[in-house]
Amino acid sequence: MSSTCGYLVPDKEFTVGEFKKAIQTILEKDQIIYKESADSLTAGDRSLSFFTRDSNSSAFAFDSADIHDTVNRRLIPEEWGIGNGAKCQKCQSFLDEQLSDILSDLYEREYDNNQETDMAILPVICDNCQHTNQLIDMYFESDVEIRSQYIQFINIENEFHPDKVKELGDFLNCNLKIFYSLI
Ligand SMILES: [Zn+2]
Repeated sequence: MSSTCGYLVPDKEFTVGEFKKAIQTILEKDQIIYKESADSLTAGDRSLSFFTRDSNSSAFAFDSADIHDTVNRRLIPEEWGIGNGAKCQKCQSFLDEQLSDILSDLYEREYDNNQETDMAILPVICDNCQHTNQLIDMYFESDVEIRSQYIQFINIENEFHPDKVKELGDFLNCNLKIFYSLI
């Protein structure tokens, strides 16, 4: 069964560590997230208030949350074989299939080594013209971000409440861009 992820990406860069600290503090205070342990955030008692509701909502709005805040830049939303319309910088050929394979290998390697990579400098060689693209320089037809700071909510049932996202952004002194992905 597939699940939906929601992402919030700030439009400014925080000092490494500051974003996580700030967003976790406010979301914990508002009981949107609950810190189960040092590296596990789950839905808080008021998690539903951060999302639009439908009549079938369960008690919690999502399964878990992950705040990314390191120097490593990541492709958002995560790519799981659907394709983002990635194109070669030089010849404009679509490279979704190559990229999907490269990212699958990368996720597997990272999982095995328990070590994260800076995706921005990931080389993607074009089958057509042999140009070596770096992920950060590629064209994408879909809206994507390659950023190091964001929060991800895993297995959400509904969309984010736009007013709540705006309030959170105001608190953090930035705008938060919304992404959804099916994994
Ligand atoms: Zn090319």
